[in-house]
Amino acid sequence: MDYFDVAIIGGGGTGAATAYDLALRGLSVILFERGELTSGTTGRHHGQLHSGARYALGDHRIARECMAETLILRRIAADALEFNQGLFLAVDDEGESLTDEFVEACRAADIPATEVPVARAREWEPRISGATRRAVLVPDGTIDAYRLAMRFFASAASRGAVIRNYTQASGIEVTGGAVRAVAARSLRDGTETRYECGAVVNAGGPWADRVAALAGLEVPVTPAAGTMVAVEGRVANMVISRLRRPSDGDIVVPQRRLSIVGSTQRKVEDPDGLRPLPEEIELLLASADELVTGFSAQPFRAAWAAARPLAGRSSEEGREISRDIAIVDHGKSDGVRGFFSVLGGKATTLRRMGELVSDQVAAFLGKAEPCRTAKFDLAPYADYWRLP
Ligand SMILES: Cc1cc2nc3c(=O)[nH]c(=O)nc-3n(C[C@H](O)[C@H](O)[C@H](O)COP(=O)(O)OP(=O)(O)OC[C@H]3O[C@@H](n4cnc5c(N)ncnc54)[C@H](O)[C@@H]3O)c2cc1C
Repeated sequence: MDYFDVAIIGGGGTGAATAYDLALRGLSVILFERGELTSGTTGRHHGQLHSGARYALGDHRIARECMAETLILRRIAADALEFNQGLFLAVDDEGESLTDEFVEACRAADIPATEVPVARAREWEPRISGATRRAVLVPDGTIDAYRLAMRFFASAASRGAVIRNYTQASGIEVTGGAVRAVAARSLRDGTETRYECGAVVNAGGPWADRVAALAGLEVPVTPAAGTMVAVEGRVANMVISRLRRPSDGDIVVPQRRLSIVGSTQRKVEDPDGLRPLPEEIELLLASADELVTGFSAQPFRAAWAAARPLAGRSSEEGREISRDIAIVDHGKSDGVRGFFSVLGGKATTLRRMGELVSDQVAAFLGKAEPCRTAKFDLAPYADYWRLP
C-alpha cells in the first residue's frame, strides 16, 4: 500500500499544472489518467493562446487573467507556443460599431489592443475578407496543446510526481468525513490498487461530475460540446477573429501546417464519444469564409468535437455560463474534508487553475509553501520520457 499527500484524478492540462504546482511545494503527488495523457479536452481544443480579447466585452476579470497567464506562459513555456498575434476583423455593421468599445474594453483589461488600417492588416494577412471595415491587432497566439501540457507533466515528474496513464480512478474512500484513499484500476491489466492519501483533487474536466460521484458527491459542471474543422495549409499566420460578441465560428487559428476554424456550442449529457454534426461543419466553413477568403476551398483535413468543462449548471446550451475558474472545497460544501474540485477555465489558464486549487490543498495539508510555478522555465516536454 502506498501513501501520497495528494491524489489527482484527470491527466489533462489542469491535472498536469496542479501536479507540478503541488510537487514544487514539496508535496508527494500521484496522478491518474484513464486514457493517454491529454486525451480529454486538452488534446482536442482549438489551440488559441487567448490574450483575453475575446472576453473583453463580456468579462474583464477573465480577459485580464488570460492576458496575465499569456505573459507567464511566454516566459516559462515559450517553445510550446507561437507568438503570431491576432487580428480582430469588423466585417459587418455590428463589428464596425463595436470596434471602439472593444479596443477600450481590451485596454481596461491590460490587453494592448491597437486599431490598424485595413490596408496594413491586409499586408500582413493578404487573405483577410474583402468585407473588412476595421481591424484591431491583439497579442493572441497559438498553443501546441500537447507539448504545453507535457511540459507541465515533465516538470511534475522531475519533482517526483508519479503519473499513471491508462489508470482509472474507480473509487474514493471517505471515512470520518475526510478522504482516505483512492482506488485505481489499471486499464492495461485490470488490477486495482488502493492508494492512501491526505487529499484528492478532481481535475476531471467535463467528467468532473462523474469523478465527484466516486465520493458520493455532486459538482455543478455542464459539458458543452464544440466542433472544430481543420483544412490543409495556413490561410493566415495570425489568429483571425471576428469582431462581435462571442458566437459560433468566430476564430481561425493556424496550427502547424493547418488552419482550424471553431467553434460551436451545445450542451451534452455525455462528454465521451462526441461527433461533429454535419450542420456544424457547414456553418463553420461558411463562417470561416466570411473571415478569410477561400477557407472552405482548402483541402479538408478533419472535423472533431470536444466538451468544455463549464463550471455551473445550465438547462440551455451553456453560453450564459461564465468561463471562470471555480474551485470547490467539498469539506465546506459537502462535509468531505480533503476533497477539492477544479472546474471551468481555459487551456490558456491551466497554470492559474493549478495555483488556485493547490493554494487550498496546501493550506488544508498545513503546507505553507507559496505557488512558484510562474518563476521557472518548465522542463522540456521530451524530459517526460527520459525520466526513469
Ligand atoms: C471546442 C473547444 C475549443 C477550445 N478552444 C480553446 C482554445 O483555443 N484556447 C484555450 O485556452 N482553451 C480552449 N478550450 C478550453 C480548454 O480546452 C479546456 O478548458 C481545457 O482543455 C480543460 O482541461 P482539463 O484538464 O480541465 O480537462 P481535460 O483535458 O478534459 O482532462 C480531464 C481528464 O480527466 C480524465 N478522467 C475522467 N475521469 C477519470 C477517472 N475516473 N480516472 C482517471 N481519469 C479520468 C479524462 O480522461 C480527461 O483526460 C476549448 C474547449 C473546447 C471544448
